[in-house]
Amino acid sequence: MPSRPFRLRVHDTLTGRKIVLTPPARGHLTIYVCGVTPYESGHMGHAFTFSIFDVLVRFLEANGVRVKYVQNITDVDDPLLERARRDQIDWRELADRETKVHLRDMTVLGWRPPDVMPRVSDEIKGIVAAASRLHSTGYAYKTDALYFDASKYRGYGRLSHRTRRSMLRRLREEGMLGTVGPSAKRDALDFPLWRRSGPDEPAWPSKFGEGRPGWHIECSAMSMHYLGAQIDIHGGGRDLVFSHHESERAQSESLTHKVPFARAWVHTGMVRYEGRKMSKSLGNLVKVSQALQRAPAAAVRLYLVGHRYRRDWSFEWQGLARSARLVEGIAKFLAQDARTATRGGSARPGRALMAEFNAALADDLDTPRAVRTLRAAVRQRDAAAVRAMKDVLAGSASLT
Ligand SMILES: [Zn+2]
Repeated sequence: MPSRPFRLRVHDTLTGRKIVLTPPARGHLTIYVCGVTPYESGHMGHAFTFSIFDVLVRFLEANGVRVKYVQNITDVDDPLLERARRDQIDWRELADRETKVHLRDMTVLGWRPPDVMPRVSDEIKGIVAAASRLHSTGYAYKTDALYFDASKYRGYGRLSHRTRRSMLRRLREEGMLGTVGPSAKRDALDFPLWRRSGPDEPAWPSKFGEGRPGWHIECSAMSMHYLGAQIDIHGGGRDLVFSHHESERAQSESLTHKVPFARAWVHTGMVRYEGRKMSKSLGNLVKVSQALQRAPAAAVRLYLVGHRYRRDWSFEWQGLARSARLVEGIAKFLAQDARTATRGGSARPGRALMAEFNAALADDLDTPRAVRTLRAAVRQRDAAAVRAMKDVLAGSASLT
């Protein structure tokens, strides 16, 4: 248990500043991270985001903070349903298969599993209830679908720091602009909470007709269901800031009038490969399974978290190889130490090393600095410090 008050500084996307997060006096520090849409799982972009949040959770817990961590599975969403249609397989089968890939990869990469991993398809009741409440309180209207009226929420665009024009541009890029008209949405910024399902798409009964939820309301409803009206940290990849998180924030605060919905919005950068953003459409995804063929799991983890979480970076095989050499050194040193350690000795990690390590992570999760401190601990032959740091940075990922 910590004897001193624990403080974490994190960069908050909404204010654009580092803010201080102190753990609650009682109960848990709550974290909601938007999980995968399981149709093309298991690449480095995903692994980076979830490894970074794993370091965050492990770092908090190593300092005696109790954490409740929720990460959802978006198994009802346009890209997944489109892919299922293209590949002519059942959407559930695709979602199950790709969810397994995600869980397998993250298990090998040594994560501390989230406390709850809700799947949208299991959460429809809560989602419909949230949509209904927005409708009955005047934040949503029904035409060909049930839409959230973005003009009713003051500050739509503030999280992403975008003007109306820039939001519209982004919606166009995402292919989410939709149709504006008397029988559709009133304004291009409005977005569906509940819509009719297409052929071969899942559909559930609701008072708004048979259909399926819109993407954003799914996360608002799941986050509130498992973590309450307000959460400490809401995380995800930076590509989710607009429109997903912007819309989630608008809905959640309109639902509860409890502000802020999230005390800190934490976003990870994009992973590039050969100079371009890693994406399914460009076909340049590097899979976790490919990296694991060349390096131990702990090396993949340390390579990923060796990057500053907010920055975009490029995946390079040479970088992974460097990380593999570090891990080889750690494995050798710890094996040697285990052979020579005196039985019953209470080796404690060096205070200066641990202070530097903790200071690095408490300062907006400076993982590259933390990895450098791990290297220093190996050089200084401090086995207890090496173990403690490895546990936070690489979790239970194997060193060999
Ligand atoms: Zn989400």
